[in-house]
Amino acid sequence: MKKFVSMLLFMSVFFTMFAAVGQAAAVVPKLFLNGNLIKSDVSPQLVNNYTLVPLAVLSDGLGYTYEWEHEAKRVTVMSGGNSIVLSINDNTATVNGEPVTMETKAQLISNRTMVPLSFIGTQFGLDFEWKHQEKEVHMFEKPEEPAMPTEPTEPVVPTEPTGWIKQVSFDGMRTLTISYEGILKADKPLYLDDPKRIVLDFPNTVYSDEITAQLNGEIKSLTPDNPLLTSYRYSLFEPAKSRLVLDVIDGIGFVMTVNVGEIRLELMPASEIPVDPNAPVNPPVTEEPPVTEPNPPAGDNVYDIVIDAGHGGKDPGAYSVLKKYEKEFNLSVSLKIKALLDKEKQLKGHLTRTDDTFIELIDRVKFAEALKADLFVSIHANAIDKPSVSGTETYYSRASSKPFADIVHKHLLTGAGLKDRGVKQANFKVIKETTMPAILLESGYLTNTGDSNSLFSDAVQNRIAAEVVAGIKEYLKIK
Ligand SMILES: [Zn+2]
Repeated sequence: MKKFVSMLLFMSVFFTMFAAVGQAAAVVPKLFLNGNLIKSDVSPQLVNNYTLVPLAVLSDGLGYTYEWEHEAKRVTVMSGGNSIVLSINDNTATVNGEPVTMETKAQLISNRTMVPLSFIGTQFGLDFEWKHQEKEVHMFEKPEEPAMPTEPTEPVVPTEPTGWIKQVSFDGMRTLTISYEGILKADKPLYLDDPKRIVLDFPNTVYSDEITAQLNGEIKSLTPDNPLLTSYRYSLFEPAKSRLVLDVIDGIGFVMTVNVGEIRLELMPASEIPVDPNAPVNPPVTEEPPVTEPNPPAGDNVYDIVIDAGHGGKDPGAYSVLKKYEKEFNLSVSLKIKALLDKEKQLKGHLTRTDDTFIELIDRVKFAEALKADLFVSIHANAIDKPSVSGTETYYSRASSKPFADIVHKHLLTGAGLKDRGVKQANFKVIKETTMPAILLESGYLTNTGDSNSLFSDAVQNRIAAEVVAGIKEYLKIK
């Protein structure tokens, strides 16, 4: 179990703001790890906009071990096989044997060794949240991940911000847009593993007042069904450095387009990213010609249809404005479809899950392949950070699945009764890696109140199930 801190620089933001408005400068924010208050006999200190804490916070609060060498005035902090060596008044640290320049340094203050938590956080990155109202710093452990030595950075002098981010939004497909005023320039992105994510820092940049009012730490937006991006979050990382973290699928990169007042990040598989960032992006290659005729059923003259209820168990999928989870909708509709399929002489339904169980995507693929299923239908509902977005989408990945997608989409529109957002191509794993015609239904948006009310209504679910079966029969030309 690794316990590292990030972020006490947030306290510097806090202190700076306090100093600016001339309120009590002695207020010390509280520190929490995974919701538990970290106690310290010596208060954290703010030195030149960086937060220093006594060694005891590292051991008692965060569970690291450390060795203090009195003669050398040197401390070695260890956790999970990683080490950081800091010497008093020296701004070069040694991280796993490599020298790294720090923007601040360990110091002796009133005979106590005080170390820069922001630096340690940069190396090992806990998730964090600064609660402005409560003056609390909340740190959260992430799953195990290897130590990430950062590149040496130039020591920076805290400066006034020159850029203000006004909005961060995702179009639900592949484009993230950062709207800003002033000057905005990103540092080189960091690509991190476990979980896969891309970190983009914007120095000398803060969030505009409109966002700061809601920010209260970080903002996280979930996009659980997007084939490129599972979520993104943004927060102020240092007094004048904004951070954007994209939780991406393995192998995803982006192309950045900078316009006046707007930066666009277009996500795409790294293999599709043009070498020359100004070159046009090649459209996805159609790897096989569309097949319009379904294959006849093998052997017993019964078509095996896999109905895949998306998510389940620890993976709830999207969160509805009705405070229900997508996984519940997916399962409920899937069970209804299965019941209707089994009433048909020529159809047999097979469910990837029949209850609230977590199943890996690859196991859903293997299930369909082992069955030699004739058709694959994955049931989902969508989410996006704009509550006004509404409607039904049907996805296919391989071109041979498009005719099936077109037919079922027409029926799904009737069943759901929501706005038509079209048939789209995207490489969701379950419809890409299966080999039979395979589609993924995004029946509506659970982040939209109207869609959510419809999709959680039993009558609408019955209608969706009946229409999906009607679509399957139409595609298979079964009367
Ligand atoms: Zn989903």
